[in-house]
Amino acid sequence: MSDIQSITAQLVLFRDERDWAQFHNPKDLALALSIEAAELLELFLWKNAEDADTDKLKDELADVFSFAFLLAEKYQLDVQQIIQEKILKNADKYPVDLARGTAKKYDELY
Ligand SMILES: [Mg+2]
Repeated sequence: MSDIQSITAQLVLFRDERDWAQFHNPKDLALALSIEAAELLELFLWKNAEDADTDKLKDELADVFSFAFLLAEKYQLDVQQIIQEKILKNADKYPVDLARGTAKKYDELY
């Protein structure tokens, strides 16, 4: 079992001990993920990045990962596999010789 699978199993256990699976439909998991991402953004609002509270950042980042892993679990997706597949897709979209050192979007590289 990978580290991600182990973490997901802990999240599922936490959820099931509380009988919360009934609330964890894909739509609400996606909403929760987005809301937690907004809470992460809020840590940076009206301040310089280096002034964001690191302890709060850990909490919000953990919330984001948690809902992302639970959403992946809902669709029986292998998180490691889908990320590796996306890295390969992005490597095609952003060839090193065109993308190195530029923040341009892929459709502006050619
Ligand atoms: Mg939060």
